[in-house]
Amino acid sequence: MARHTRNATLTPWIVTALATTLTGVAGCTPDAASAHETHTPAPGAAGIGDTLHPGLGNSGYTVRHTALALRFAEDLTTYTATTTLHGRATRSLFRFNLDLTGTTVRSVTVDGRKATWTRSGQELRVTPPAPVPSGRGFSVEVTVRAPVAGPEAAGKLGTAAIGMVRAKGVIQTINQPSGAHRIAAFADHPAQKAPTTITIAAPTRVNTIANGELTATRREGAYTVRRFESRQKLAPELIQIGVGPFTVVKRPGPDGIKLRYALPTGQVNDLMPQIDAVVPKALRFLTQRLGPFPLRTYGIYASPLGGELETQSLTLLGTEELTEEGMRANGSDTVVAHEISHEYFGNSVSPRRWSDLWLNEGHAVYYQSLWDQAKGGSDLADGMKRRYQDSAAQLRKQGPVADPRRGAFTPEDMAPYGWGAYQGGAVVLYALRQKVGEATFRRIERAWVAEHRDGTAGTADFIRLASRVAGRDLGPFLRSWLYAEKLPAMPGHPDWRTS
Ligand SMILES: [Zn+2]
Repeated sequence: MARHTRNATLTPWIVTALATTLTGVAGCTPDAASAHETHTPAPGAAGIGDTLHPGLGNSGYTVRHTALALRFAEDLTTYTATTTLHGRATRSLFRFNLDLTGTTVRSVTVDGRKATWTRSGQELRVTPPAPVPSGRGFSVEVTVRAPVAGPEAAGKLGTAAIGMVRAKGVIQTINQPSGAHRIAAFADHPAQKAPTTITIAAPTRVNTIANGELTATRREGAYTVRRFESRQKLAPELIQIGVGPFTVVKRPGPDGIKLRYALPTGQVNDLMPQIDAVVPKALRFLTQRLGPFPLRTYGIYASPLGGELETQSLTLLGTEELTEEGMRANGSDTVVAHEISHEYFGNSVSPRRWSDLWLNEGHAVYYQSLWDQAKGGSDLADGMKRRYQDSAAQLRKQGPVADPRRGAFTPEDMAPYGWGAYQGGAVVLYALRQKVGEATFRRIERAWVAEHRDGTAGTADFIRLASRVAGRDLGPFLRSWLYAEKLPAMPGHPDWRTS
C-alpha cells in the first residue's frame, strides 16, 4: 500500500508484551511438536503465531492450493463464495481452524464429507468426520453468503482492511492485512499463501477481473463466468476482485511481461496515455536493478472508488491518480513505481510475520524514491535525511522499525502500519547501502528477491542473507537500526541529526 500520510490514533490498548524473537516465530508451535505429539490427534491452533495479528493464519496444516468461487446476485449487492483449500496436515488433527468474519456459513465439507463447525470471533473451527492424520493431504470447502459492503464502508478506504466494497457502480477489494476473511473463509496470513484460482460469476452487463491470468470464460444464461489463475502463490491479503463497467486493455510489456489494464470504459482514452508512458518504463527500471520480474502478467485495476494497493499482478489505483492532471499534481508515477516494486517486495517475497512489514514497505518507499531521483525528482539522500530527522519522534511513538508496538496503532486491523515500516524501513535500507556500498547493496537486493522468490521470509532471513552476500556479519549493524527507537549515526553523513 502506498500511504503518504499517517494519522494513527493512539489507543490505550492493554496488550501483553510482544514476545518478539529475532526470528519472529513463537517458540513452541504445533508444527514443532515431537513425533509422539504430532501423531496424537489434537486441535490446530487458531493463529500462525503472529504477535501483531494473533488470530490470522492457522496452525496444524500448510496450504497447497486455494480456490475461490464467487457468484454475485443480479443487483451485485450480495454474493455466495466457496473457498476450497487443499492442505496438508503438519500434525494429526481432530479439528482445525480457518479465518472467517461476518458472512453466513452455508456448508462445510472435508474431503467431500459434511463436517461440523463452530464460530468464535474471526475463527471458523472445523471438525472433520474423522481426524486428519499427520502428513495427509485434505481438502476443506466452505460456502458462505454475504452482502457486499456498501458506500459507507468505502469511506474507510485507506484506513482499514474492509474486504470487498461496492460503490460508484464498481466492486473492489481492500484486504491488507486482514480483510480477505471478511469475504470468505481463508487461512488469512501471507505465510500460508498458495497458488490460487479465482472464479467469478456475474451478470454479463458488467465485466470482472481478478489476480493472475484469465484462463476460461463461459456464458451461463444472463451470467458470464471467468476463471483467473495465479500460478505463483497468492496471499489472501493480496486478492483483488473487480466487478464493474470497465474495459480490459492489453499491451505487450518489456521482457515478455503481459500487461493488462481494467479501466472504466468511458475513461480508457483519458487514462491510457499516462499508463503507457509510465508502467513499461517503471517495469524496466525495476527489472534492471532487481532482476527478472516475478510474474508473467502485470496490470492495474483503475477504480473510481480510489485506493492504492499492491494486489498481486493487478495493482489497485484510483482513476484520479491516472488522469493527466492527477499524474502531474500527485506525482502518481512514483506511486506506480511503489506498487510495482511490491511485486518483488511483499508479493513474491511475503513477510513471515506482519512485524516484517518494513521489508515490504521500506523497499517500496526506497525504490519509489530511487525512481523519483532517476527521472529528475527529489534527490535520494535529501529524502532520506528528512526521514532520518523525523525518526526519533516517530519511533518513540510506534516502536522500532522491525518491532512496532501493537498498542501504538488503532485497533482496526492497522497494527503493523506506521511510519516505521514505510519511512523507517527505507532509512534502514539506505543505511545499509551507505555501510556496504552501492555495488554490494545491489547484490544483496538481487539475491533477496531471487532466493526468496515466490516464498516467505522475515527480518532474520534478511540479516543472514545480507551478511552472507557482503561477506561480513551485518547482524549487529542491522539490529541496531531495526530494533532501536533512536537510530544510530548514518554512515557517510556524520552531520545528520535525529530530532
Ligand atoms: Zn506500499
